Amino acid sequence: MALKKDSNSLGSEQEKSKNIDSSLLEFKTLDNKKEIESQLLEVSKGDDNENGFLDFGFNQSILNSLKNKGYKNPTPIQKAAIPELMLGRDLLGQAQTGTGKTAAFALPLIEKLTDNKELNAKVLVMTPTRELATQVAESFKSYSSESSNFKTVAIYGGTDYRNQISALKRKVDVVVGTPGRIMDHIRQGTFKIKDINCLVLDEADEMLNMGFLEDIEWIIDQLPENKQMVLFSATMPSEIRNIAKKYLNDPAEILIKSVKKETQLISQKFLYVQRHHKLDALKRILELNNEGVIIFVRTKLLTTSIAEALENSGHTVAVLNGDIPQNQRENTVERLKKGFINILVATDVAARGLDVERIKLVVNYDFPFDKETYTHRIGRTGRAGRSGEAILFVNQREKHFLRNLENSTRTKIEEINIPSNKIINEKRMEKLIENVNESSLAKDENEENKALIIDVLDNLKEKYSMDHSNIAMAAINLLIGNKSFFVNDDDSWIHKQNNTDRNRSNRNNNNRMRNSNRRNNYQNDSFETYKFNFGKFDGVRIANIISSICNSTNINGRSIGKIQIFNDYSLVDLPRDLQRETKNKLKKIKVRN
Ligand code: AMP
Repeated sequence: MALKKDSNSLGSEQEKSKNIDSSLLEFKTLDNKKEIESQLLEVSKGDDNENGFLDFGFNQSILNSLKNKGYKNPTPIQKAAIPELMLGRDLLGQAQTGTGKTAAFALPLIEKLTDNKELNAKVLVMTPTRELATQVAESFKSYSSESSNFKTVAIYGGTDYRNQISALKRKVDVVVGTPGRIMDHIRQGTFKIKDINCLVLDEADEMLNMGFLEDIEWIIDQLPENKQMVLFSATMPSEIRNIAKKYLNDPAEILIKSVKKETQLISQKFLYVQRHHKLDALKRILELNNEGVIIFVRTKLLTTSIAEALENSGHTVAVLNGDIPQNQRENTVERLKKGFINILVATDVAARGLDVERIKLVVNYDFPFDKETYTHRIGRTGRAGRSGEAILFVNQREKHFLRNLENSTRTKIEEINIPSNKIINEKRMEKLIENVNESSLAKDENEENKALIIDVLDNLKEKYSMDHSNIAMAAINLLIGNKSFFVNDDDSWIHKQNNTDRNRSNRNNNNRMRNSNRRNNYQNDSFETYKFNFGKFDGVRIANIISSICNSTNINGRSIGKIQIFNDYSLVDLPRDLQRETKNKLKKIKVRN
């Protein structure tokens, strides 16, 4: 049964709830909370003749845009969240990207704003990063592509204000942005918030990690009081629960248990490698798989040096880091999607929310700082129900982190070896044979080329009396080129390392049983405390310190530990093994100018 409603007011009218298909609301009887097992893969398997979105009562324009996108059935979170949001209820959702959570809040909000003629924005969506802001704004735009005169504007830092200001001057329905830039626009009066009647906090835990809590609270306090509040978070730490308690009014609660199933599609592996062999190991891994790869490294500097090294080895590579201007980043992602680039070397923050279906392999070149970073990184593959592979580089010092990671993600990460010359050469041979075979098939498809090839063959036979096997050999020789085909670099270090590591790993397994308590020290061990000569007297806040550190160095927000602000100085826990260059940059850091 379809939900009938008037398009402008979706308050808490009881008649409306009566019209909703009761199966969509079943969880309300379960103490207002719903736990759902979800796997995006199942969504696309819907019956071709059915449209599972009809039950929500969306208007035809939304249904048309969903059809254009090829969505047939709502994902579990959409099934649970959409009816609640249509009724104007507050919502607290625990869900990761990849579950369809964006459409879960975007669709009912677009429905609510259909035919909105007013100038000022009605909905504000806050995201932790500009990447996510762009992605969410793009989703709103595509879901509203068939709705006339529906406007979504994204506002985020790192780009010029002028375009954003002029976009905000015109008619706007939805604003999606990052906290800092939203605050700036509110302060300057360039973002008129008096008509906002819905606020969405997306990836709220990430915003908290980045130190945005005060900014978020400031923004909430500026907004009109009676508004619908939606809070999505991948994890539900007590700080998020507190925010929910403070600001949400009797929210529907939805928990999507998706991580396990999503990551099941990703085969997770690790290899032991000493630091000075990492680049070589990476090149060897890419010999086996180099189409649709993301390599995660900790520093911006490393993104460029690795990209250069890979480019020199003949790969098509691009970098994604915080120094790259926004429009260039978008362009890079587009080129990756289209296959013009095969390999992306990225830092964590720059690659947040990246959704490119053709990513087959994620390489954790540098060990991730925590479980969430790891889960996010590997989640860049296995998109939209496809399978993927994730490889984690582990050095001597990181071995106990690996066990922590396995425990906290409750996954067994399988050990693999760095590919030796033998493996690589077998693969090269296999590829060459495949290439020749594929060319022989492709040849038939192009009549013009076929005629040309026959002409060349005739010429070779006539002029040089070559027979078929001579010609075939010459053609393959041409394909191989001048460079030596087989790799014959010294790979004895791989064999040695594999043996010693295996022995050590067995010994460690035994020690690990005895020392399991030490694990919990991982976080503390990996930090060092830095003192900065600014503090409360300078009006400094945690968010200022985080954004200055992130903007001036290659350290990402997630890897910053405890921050304590005293009257005239501050103490900040930062990763222990910072490079000298980063330390020098830290010395020159300015906060609030
Ligand atoms: P999200 O969790 O919002 O980041 O969405 C993850 C991916 O799922 C995106 O590529 C969406 O386009 C896609 N998606 C969302 N909802 C559906 C649906 N009902 N059917 C098919 N794909 C979907």
